[in-house]
Amino acid sequence: MTELSALSPVPSAARDAVLKFYFGPMDCGKSTLALQMNYNHGRQGRRGLVLTKHDRSGGAKVTSRIGLGLDAIEVDDSLDLVALVGAHDRIDYLICDEACFYTVEQIEQLADLVDEHGVDVYAFGLASDFRSQMFPAAQRLFELADEVCRLQVEVLCWCGRPGLLNARVVGGAMARRGEQVVIGDTDASPVRYQVLCRRHHRSGQLATPLPSLTAS
Ligand SMILES: [Zn+2]
Repeated sequence: MTELSALSPVPSAARDAVLKFYFGPMDCGKSTLALQMNYNHGRQGRRGLVLTKHDRSGGAKVTSRIGLGLDAIEVDDSLDLVALVGAHDRIDYLICDEACFYTVEQIEQLADLVDEHGVDVYAFGLASDFRSQMFPAAQRLFELADEVCRLQVEVLCWCGRPGLLNARVVGGAMARRGEQVVIGDTDASPVRYQVLCRRHHRSGQLATPLPSLTAS
């Protein structure tokens, strides 16, 4: 084996695969970008898989608020992502929507796919939960990703400031405690989510205060 020194030329291997994490609050366009990315790679003849978990449609699909949708593989906790890719003929990339809900072990598997199998991984998800604390899978992505990118497609708090954090609203009030993952915004659920600026996430104020009746 040739000894490498600081002056040795960098081996001209093929381009390294990449692990990228795109994060932002609800409604910031993550799923829309995920679908666009899949379309662009597919058009160049690359072969990929689209994965999701707990999509807003309630099915194994990636759907975006603006009406786009695509069938996807539902990632349940026991799914081994390296084995999943190995069961396919040739996979160049993965689109992983809602990656914040994957297990930490599955994020490790994504890193394995990048490093050991040359698969590009584009992960999309929330960074933090309704308490503004990081999801474990998102934290692992922050730690491992080659590139982390905050998406900010002008999702605004009611006050007009940039929306950064997701609030869980139960019975008209902001919840501070509860399970980390609760599906909301469906007809069957009493839970809904609302994007707020940091100031109003911290104060728990969900809307413009009504004018006080006693004010003169
Ligand atoms: Zn605000």
